[in-house]
Amino acid sequence: MSRTLRRSRRACSALAVAGLLAACGSAGSESSRLVPQSRVPQAADADPVATLTGGRAAEAFGAFSYRTAADGTVEPDADWVRENIRTAELPVVGRVTCHRVMLERLRGALAEVEASRLAGTLTTYDGCYVPRFIASDPARPLSLHTWGVAVDLDAATNQRGVAGTMHPQVVEIFKRWGFRWGGDWRHTDPMHFELGASLDV
Ligand SMILES: [Zn+2]
Repeated sequence: MSRTLRRSRRACSALAVAGLLAACGSAGSESSRLVPQSRVPQAADADPVATLTGGRAAEAFGAFSYRTAADGTVEPDADWVRENIRTAELPVVGRVTCHRVMLERLRGALAEVEASRLAGTLTTYDGCYVPRFIASDPARPLSLHTWGVAVDLDAATNQRGVAGTMHPQVVEIFKRWGFRWGGDWRHTDPMHFELGASLDV
């Protein structure tokens, strides 16, 4: 899911919806229960449990049941999606679909990016609420995109393992609004900003 900024917002919206439908429409083969770390089932419980990333995110943004698909996407429980996932029009990127907690932080950061005349340094919006495992690999933890609390920007020039093209001031603004930046990780992911302060990990 990628979208060039400041083009047709109607097309963007369609892309966002298409991404959601693609995940929801995939045939789930397994049902898992995602629970906070404090309520991790004992060994006798055979249900798969999300690892650290998922557990901490569940505490902060709500636990939900989900179904997995072979392509690495997941389908969160419909009630959780209805309660938490929202679509809104934000500065710079236009229409996005994210967790309700994420929307206001993202709106704040992007408004500041715009006010700082840095909007022109960003080219594409590449997704926020995209329910999937990290790198779409079911062997890895759930991506924070599953909760809609991470956003990808300028994916084409900010792939894993590169320094990327994110403007340092844009990074600084996002951090001030409580985001962690994937560009700081050992195996960099510079397109990726995620809510971090709320997770304390
Ligand atoms: Zn990401």
